[in-house]
Amino acid sequence: MIYCPIHRQRVRKAAWLLLLGVWLLAACGAAGATDVAAPTAAVASPTTAVASSTTDVGPPTTAAVRLTLRSTLQPTPTASPTATVVPPAPTPAPPTRTPTATRTPPTGALVVSIDGLRPDAIPLADTPNLDRLIARGAIAWRAQTVLPSVTLPGHVSMLSGTSPEVHGVRWNSYQPERGHVTVPTLFSVAHDAGLTTAMFVGKVKLAHIAVPGTVDTYAYVASGDAQVARQAAEHLRAASPAVLFVHLPDVDTTGHQDGWLSAPQLDAVTRADAAVGVLLEALGALGRLEDTLIVVTADHGGLGTGHGGAEPESMTIPWLIAGPGIRQGYTVQREVRVYDTAVTVAWALGLPLPAEWEGRLIVEAFE
Ligand SMILES: [Zn+2]
Repeated sequence: MIYCPIHRQRVRKAAWLLLLGVWLLAACGAAGATDVAAPTAAVASPTTAVASSTTDVGPPTTAAVRLTLRSTLQPTPTASPTATVVPPAPTPAPPTRTPTATRTPPTGALVVSIDGLRPDAIPLADTPNLDRLIARGAIAWRAQTVLPSVTLPGHVSMLSGTSPEVHGVRWNSYQPERGHVTVPTLFSVAHDAGLTTAMFVGKVKLAHIAVPGTVDTYAYVASGDAQVARQAAEHLRAASPAVLFVHLPDVDTTGHQDGWLSAPQLDAVTRADAAVGVLLEALGALGRLEDTLIVVTADHGGLGTGHGGAEPESMTIPWLIAGPGIRQGYTVQREVRVYDTAVTVAWALGLPLPAEWEGRLIVEAFE
């Protein structure tokens, strides 16, 4: 049977009388060729359509992306950009770093740790940037960090895919004589694959994670979230590292001074959110906002003016992920652990997963 639904109204108006005779023989042989080609193109490029589904934030590149997609998908003159994003989500396949003709894979990853951020602080504070990321991504509201629930073990786990039982870092201060972590990190795996890496941190002890030869640019910035973000954004614009980790210390500092979920700490959460906004803006200026996997999480929470034990307030952290192939507006149901971070990011970038890594891919977050 001949299937020309797109031009149905026009055909009804103009061709009813000639339909059986002339149209069957002549019209579909010539003008109908365009209609037949369009669905073929749409079916052939489902990944292209998926790439466009994350363009709701509106970076400078959005229009260009949509224009490319529209020409690729050959929509009808009446189709809106939204209507072109109709093909169903493809089955998730391990992303590869080999660009295809129709879709650019994630160009890299931005991992932001808001030190000491409890997930229940997010709805209590003004966080427009996190809110937008949550809307365009997937979030686990009750992810878990490791014991002891303190900064250095938590970050080593976050960035090495392992628990303290494996990475062995249970201390929580800068002790240069103890050297660097001995397990593979997200940075070592990325660097080995030829990707550029960078760390911008607000606490000096995180230097233990920057194993020489694995982090192309490492910066300890002592003056707080705004300066960490500003310098990281400058580096983004100048060098565009594929894998960038940014550590924002002020929510934790304020929690120790004024208490977790205190008004001053919630103000600090808002400032951390603004710092995230600075990083997103820099990604947008590079045209990388849509192609970058973004993770925002924390190393631990807190209770009163401290943390460190097994209490839920210290152990529970937010884990937010957004970017290519990630579900939008989705709440992750399964338990996420902080050391699932490196695994999930590396997998999304098509990097090999070291045998030492214990974390699990949060496959549920992907389309
Ligand atoms: Zn911390």
